[in-house]
Amino acid sequence: MLPDLERLIQLQEIESKAAVAAKAIAEAPGRIAALDALLKGATLALDSAKHALAENKTRRGLIDKDLASAQQRQDKYKDQVMAVKTNEQLHAMQHQIKAVADEIGVHEEKVLVSMMEADEVNATIKKAEAALKAAQAKVGTERAAVEADVKVQQGVVTECATARTTLVATLNDKGLLDTFGRIAKVRGTAVARAEGERCTVCQVRLRPAVFVQVLKNDQIMQCDSCNRILYFIAPVVAPAAPAAPDAPAS
Ligand SMILES: [Zn+2]
Repeated sequence: MLPDLERLIQLQEIESKAAVAAKAIAEAPGRIAALDALLKGATLALDSAKHALAENKTRRGLIDKDLASAQQRQDKYKDQVMAVKTNEQLHAMQHQIKAVADEIGVHEEKVLVSMMEADEVNATIKKAEAALKAAQAKVGTERAAVEADVKVQQGVVTECATARTTLVATLNDKGLLDTFGRIAKVRGTAVARAEGERCTVCQVRLRPAVFVQVLKNDQIMQCDSCNRILYFIAPVVAPAAPAAPDAPAS
């Protein structure tokens, strides 16, 4: 193979590897932000549940106060009923006692509802605490993994840059670097393997005369359609599978 063609193939491998590493580095802040958002969401959910419990306690305090006040009135009426002199006064007292008993019933009902609400909120808090703990563990582990990966990828980018400089210095025809750069800028990659008279990247059929030249790998040939620099490597033929043993006669 023409040495420069081989170098361009290697250059493409280096550039592709560097691009993958650069993409991983570029995506890292987004991945960290997503982890931060997860932690923030779990923290807010717990705060909200705790706030709901505080509100429940405040409402419960007010209900208890109303209940105690009604019970005090009930006691007072019970004392007063002993001292009534007339049937009319008795009826009036009985009416008040009935009214305050109804009021106590309403307050007691509210106490029950409030207690059930408190149970629910406490269960929500427990769940939110567990979710926050899980989120903290996940975020801690994954953030460390992302940060470690960025370091690895930065190493890859540096290695690729060094390898590129070394490789480019060995190119006999420095003009090829411009050709490579122009194609890569437009197409993403600058080199393509030819196979079965086609460019395997753009899939366009090559002219027979072009393909015959590409097969030789001894000069720089470009795809008529995508302009990529073409090379040929005979496809690896998979070894034939061992013959299956004869099926037993049924
Ligand atoms: Zn092509």
